[in-house]
Amino acid sequence: MARISFRVPRLIGRSGMAAALAVLVAASPVAAASPGATGAGDPYFPLQGNGGYDVGHYGLNLRWDPATDRLDGVATIQAFATQSLSAFDLDLRRDLVVTSVSVNGERAAFTQPALLQQELVVRPRHSLAKGDTFTAVVTYGGIPPVITDPDGSIEGWVPTADGAFVVGEPQGSPAWYPCNDTPTDKAAFDVTITVPAGYTAVSNGEMRARPATRYGWTTFSWRQRQPMATYLATASVSHFVVTTGRTPGGIPWTTAVEPALTADSAPALAKLPAMVDYFTSVFGPYPFGSAGAIVMDAPAIGYALETQTKPIFPGAPDELTLAHELAHQWFGDSVTLRRWSDIWVNEGFAEWSSWMWSEASGGDSAQAFFDYYNSFDNTNDWLWRPVPADPGDAANIFNSAVYERGAMTLQALRVKVGDETFFRILRGWATQLRYGNASVEDFTSFAARVSHQDLTHFFDVWLRQPDKPTSW
Ligand SMILES: [Zn+2]
Repeated sequence: MARISFRVPRLIGRSGMAAALAVLVAASPVAAASPGATGAGDPYFPLQGNGGYDVGHYGLNLRWDPATDRLDGVATIQAFATQSLSAFDLDLRRDLVVTSVSVNGERAAFTQPALLQQELVVRPRHSLAKGDTFTAVVTYGGIPPVITDPDGSIEGWVPTADGAFVVGEPQGSPAWYPCNDTPTDKAAFDVTITVPAGYTAVSNGEMRARPATRYGWTTFSWRQRQPMATYLATASVSHFVVTTGRTPGGIPWTTAVEPALTADSAPALAKLPAMVDYFTSVFGPYPFGSAGAIVMDAPAIGYALETQTKPIFPGAPDELTLAHELAHQWFGDSVTLRRWSDIWVNEGFAEWSSWMWSEASGGDSAQAFFDYYNSFDNTNDWLWRPVPADPGDAANIFNSAVYERGAMTLQALRVKVGDETFFRILRGWATQLRYGNASVEDFTSFAARVSHQDLTHFFDVWLRQPDKPTSW
């Protein structure tokens, strides 16, 4: 309907009704609805994300049984068509079997093609016009697959000794919910998780309703109001000890820690409120409605992740790792990489921020971290290569060069332009690009603009040349 009313007045104005209809018929093959693309165009993950629409809200209603690892879900997805669509894809692994899909309340045809491991192809009964908003409801269930990434790490809905550790960077989200799994399509989330009584399920944002137990199952409801990239969602489950509070600056926080890890986690978590307030003072307002952390015993995972509002840790966090993940709330979660090759705008910034927390809290200065890494000569590939501005392929996005050389880049910039200008750059970046996406090039241009300096050579040697920088 929107398509007709959009097009006809323009044609009538030009040539009258009869001519308009003739033009309309002649033009219809060109303007006909077509399927949305199967990927969002990221060279590292070609099937990730989809074309033709933009999601505004995910409503996920999940039920997980730790005894069988079976996950059942109903996902209600509200989206906006960015082109005329005869069909569109959602990203969902085939291990999760879809039993029904509706679009705008009408049953839709769908397939989960064997050749496309994470594409759910949906064909609505009526084509969607460009500009239409629509609601897709997907009912699905199965054993969530554990995804092994190009670098060998695992992600998705990962069972642990006492629950599930749920992480999605860079491609784990379609292992537990249907989505437009590209970092550039952020949306609000309502996540409702039902688990056996005694377990606690923790997702992003704030608790929307008191947990309710019925027939031995408890339902937890969480709401993430601010935009969130799909890879930052979590719905982790365990016998958590949940603690809440407020930072001195007024940001509410929630921590969920497995009982056996509460003592070991206490020293770092005690600093969480001060870290949030410190980073707020340096980077500008905290981007979300709450902060927190999730701590689980998940040795098979081996990495922490900046899941939005509540970063998750596979063991008791140390202070610097906690600082890194909290800094990601500004750099990564609020200002998010555009493509995976832009990973430096997430990781270089979070890593440097952890050095900065050390400096601000009386530990080693950020310059001391810089000096330590700078003592390694050019033969140390692990530190200097591949270059932070483009790690080259998906297996390299979490390399030390992105993190440590990437953090050195910011510290070197700080020294080059001076603290006053440098912190103006960081604060401006976090504020002006809030909830957006950015590339490495976006940052280098932004820094040059704010500092009124030609930083071409500086960023070339630090981010793009494979050798250890010697003069900048
Ligand atoms: Zn990180």
